Amino acid sequence: MEARTKHKEVRCDFCSKTEDQVEIIIRGSLADICNECVDLCAALVADIREKRQAEAQGRPGPKTEWTWG
Ligand SMILES: [Zn+2]
Repeated sequence: MEARTKHKEVRCDFCSKTEDQVEIIIRGSLADICNECVDLCAALVADIREKRQAEAQGRPGPKTEWTWG
């Protein structure tokens, strides 16, 4: 049994990967997120924006199904 643990395991709350499995984990006050999920979120935000703009202009936007994991 370990005498002491410096800090609890840091894990992405979105994909559950640990610090060792990803490049960067950004710590939030309520949740942590890894660089891979940040990239995915950025792509998702861009996709949603594009879709909304397309809808606002009365044309169908790109159909994308987003699921996590
Ligand atoms: Zn992640």
